[in-house]
Amino acid sequence: MNDFLTPPTFISANVIIIGMVNHLTDSTKYSEMVAVIGGGPAGLMASEILLRAGKRVSLFDGKPSLGRKLLVAGSSGLNLTHTGEFSDFLDRYGQKREWLEPILRQFTPDDLRIWVESFGIKTFVGSSGKIFPQEMTAGKFLNLWLARLTELGLSVYREHYWLGWNKSGELRFNTSLGEKFIKTKTLVLALGGASWPQTGSDGQWFEILSKEGIPLSPFRPANCGFEVKWSNHLKDKFAGVPVKNVDLSVIDLQGVRFTQRGEFVITTYGVEGSLVYAAGSRLRDLIEKNGYAEIYLDLLPDWTKDKLVTQLSKPRGKRSLSSFLERIGINGSKLSLLWEIVPREEMNDPVQLVEWIKALPLHLNCPRPIEEAISTAGGVCFEGLTENLMIKNKPGVFCAGEMLDWEAPTGGYLINACLATGRWAGKGVLEYIG
Ligand SMILES: Cc1cc2nc3c(=O)[nH]c(=O)nc-3n(C[C@H](O)[C@H](O)[C@H](O)COP(=O)(O)OP(=O)(O)OC[C@H]3O[C@@H](n4cnc5c(N)ncnc54)[C@H](O)[C@@H]3O)c2cc1C
Repeated sequence: MNDFLTPPTFISANVIIIGMVNHLTDSTKYSEMVAVIGGGPAGLMASEILLRAGKRVSLFDGKPSLGRKLLVAGSSGLNLTHTGEFSDFLDRYGQKREWLEPILRQFTPDDLRIWVESFGIKTFVGSSGKIFPQEMTAGKFLNLWLARLTELGLSVYREHYWLGWNKSGELRFNTSLGEKFIKTKTLVLALGGASWPQTGSDGQWFEILSKEGIPLSPFRPANCGFEVKWSNHLKDKFAGVPVKNVDLSVIDLQGVRFTQRGEFVITTYGVEGSLVYAAGSRLRDLIEKNGYAEIYLDLLPDWTKDKLVTQLSKPRGKRSLSSFLERIGINGSKLSLLWEIVPREEMNDPVQLVEWIKALPLHLNCPRPIEEAISTAGGVCFEGLTENLMIKNKPGVFCAGEMLDWEAPTGGYLINACLATGRWAGKGVLEYIG
């Protein structure tokens, strides 16, 4: 790998790095060069495709190290993709399914597993269909990948923060040695979304592409927590506690009911966790339109109402209502949610209490800030791209990864689509340069 601190004004294997004044134009090399900006999963995958096709690739990233968000994502196990019916998998991409489908069909969860196995890493299916690498941390996996790319000949320029194009169409980079200009015919942008900016994906590119007239959709938080006004008691006693095995339902803006089983976590500000993320885009859209969203929790999804009424109508002797409820599986965080929301007088009426247990409403006020979200919706609109992911009004410039305008819940759907679009953009470049 090249050390970002040492490159002078020179022609690298694949890009022409020029100072303020020198414009080197070796036409043979110029036609072969490919620059990739962004060293996350999408940019690394685009690089791999290009390198394997014998292209010379230079990868630029604003940060001192690559793959920082991948490392964060993998901090509690690197969930790369998801098992199950492929059509269910595609459904997770919601309204952007039709754009992503051809791309994902060429890099399915099975293809992803085969690709991971090419590193000598086995994968396994964990809880609820999530797929992880076996006995492998995200850090080790990233190191293996970077070693492979180095072997294939990748040149890496760290701490090269992209600022856009200058009037001559050269790429502008802010580096520790001052501003650099780089001339390239083909470019893959894989700059990520705008969440977790400390990992490098700060979304500043939005402004740059907007000035170029590229169709963009505003960033919005995705896979984020939502605020709920809890009592101090609930916050003090139950912040950080999961609520497991519940059905969450919401009626979306189109009037369609969404229901999913899973778990979420009570936090000091409200709720977060996989079940909330699964409904997240619907909740966010409702809040944008109405100022709030209402979700309904079925705290005992395996019980029918009749069975519950019968159970709760039995004499409970000297037992308190709480200990009585605990016997049927409403304890800890579930019990505290009931006491938080249900009026006292209705707690003692079995028929009314069952209605609450089967559809406990939670009033969500707003999503958490985008910086805290796991991912972002919004970005480069597919309408502004060719089917190869090249920007229509910027020939030779391709986009991949989370910076494209799609979203999906957590569960491996994000990384799978980032890798698939990186691969697709890489192939697009190959087709473009012939
Ligand atoms: C807490 C957390 C948990 C997650 N868990 C999961 C999960 O379980 N499953 C899943 O599928 N996904 C998960 N993700 C999401 C996943 O990590 C991202 O979707 C994925 O990393 C996006 O890949 P990318 O290549 O598009 O962008 P990124 O990985 O964000 O990479 C973008 C790169 O571009 C660089 N860059 C940005 N702007 C510039 C610039 N102007 N100049 C130079 N370089 C620039 C950045 O430094 C960065 O290296 C999680 C994310 C977070 C934060």
